[in-house]
Amino acid sequence: MKKIITGLITLLIILQITFSQITYEQLQDIANKLNYIYGSNIVVQIYPTPLGAMATGQGLVFIDPYFVNNESYEAIFGVLAHEWAHENLGHIPQVFLQQWLSGNNVYQTNLFNQQKELEADYYAGRALKMYNLPLEPYINVLIKYNKASDYTHPYLRSHPSTQERIEAATKGYNSI
Ligand SMILES: [Zn+2]
Repeated sequence: MKKIITGLITLLIILQITFSQITYEQLQDIANKLNYIYGSNIVVQIYPTPLGAMATGQGLVFIDPYFVNNESYEAIFGVLAHEWAHENLGHIPQVFLQQWLSGNNVYQTNLFNQQKELEADYYAGRALKMYNLPLEPYINVLIKYNKASDYTHPYLRSHPSTQERIEAATKGYNSI
């Protein structure tokens, strides 16, 4: 039994190394670099999330295992930089407050949230430039995963169009 468990653990470790684009150490390295910029102490955790990555507003950011396994260091850096902006700029409580103040008005909340998304994309671009990383992998992630927003009416979607997001990220990138 012990042998089987040891074998399974070894297999899992091998699979992790084979299929991960980035290692756990690289993920921590990204977190450290982003915390350095903001002077923050946010923790990243690999956890399934339908959004790919998610800021909780509690100093904790989730990243989906699919992202870690299939995207490059630069792409994940951009995605996490976006979530770090949400955390450090207090976006999550602001969106909840907006929702409350608007009397649960979905359209108003969506439009407000879109502004916060563009702000986070701006700072994602800026963070990538700060560390001399290319912007393109993050833009490719936006093109790949933001499609649904492009075909949804602006009032009904929580995220801006891909084009708007690319423009915001590029503006941030060119701000340094
Ligand atoms: Zn976001």
